[in-house]
Amino acid sequence: MTAQTQATGDFMIDAHMHFGDFVYKGRNWSSYEEYVKAAESVGVKRFCAVPIGKHSDFANKSTPDNESILKLAKRDKRVIPVFWLNILDFSKKERSSLDQFFAVKLHPDLGEFAIDDPRVIRIVNDIDLPVFVHTNESKDHSSLQRMTNLAKRFPKKKFIAIHSGSVTRTFFKLHDYAIPDNLYFDVSGVQYELILKKLHSMVGADRMIFGSDYPFGDPRVALERIRVIARNKREFDRMTERNIAELLGL
Ligand SMILES: [Zn+2]
Repeated sequence: MTAQTQATGDFMIDAHMHFGDFVYKGRNWSSYEEYVKAAESVGVKRFCAVPIGKHSDFANKSTPDNESILKLAKRDKRVIPVFWLNILDFSKKERSSLDQFFAVKLHPDLGEFAIDDPRVIRIVNDIDLPVFVHTNESKDHSSLQRMTNLAKRFPKKKFIAIHSGSVTRTFFKLHDYAIPDNLYFDVSGVQYELILKKLHSMVGADRMIFGSDYPFGDPRVALERIRVIARNKREFDRMTERNIAELLGL
């Protein structure tokens, strides 16, 4: 075990956030400075960063600028690079840089492919990294049922359901799922705390993870969510630091 995973609450890691421009109608809604200021203000020490993907990446079979995250990680040692993987554009060139990343992220909503699509299964089988997957229970292709199917196929790999299914329907559906031990849940972008409370009662703090989804979310708000669901300091430390550190092998 590393020094980081032994630390208790002093080494909080934001497990899911984005660096890169998010421009809409002439304004950029994302900045490195804004994020770092917010993260530092609540004691977050490291951040798992992915670039920002767009619908056009799937239309054009392109991949967001993963290189920019590697460059940032060289300048700022707090940045833990996560690879934004487009299943339609996973070429040799893309694969060659994977060893510099700690995990990959898949976005079935933007790409409109099912989480347990045979193309996803082939890629996941080929790569040796934890897999973060955007989940949104309001769409069949990104449901937690499909997330569960994928995680069950690879019991030795670790998966994080980003947004934990996200919407109210998740609360009612959770009991239908046989959730495998290698599936973890991120608290960003979840519609109601009730969903997180139910998840906590089912999988416990050992499988829930603090993530902000900046610039869509904010680390200060996400951390408050963790405070709401943690029953004690051990659980708080698990969710803000130890689970993700162990999962990524930090
Ligand atoms: Zn995200």
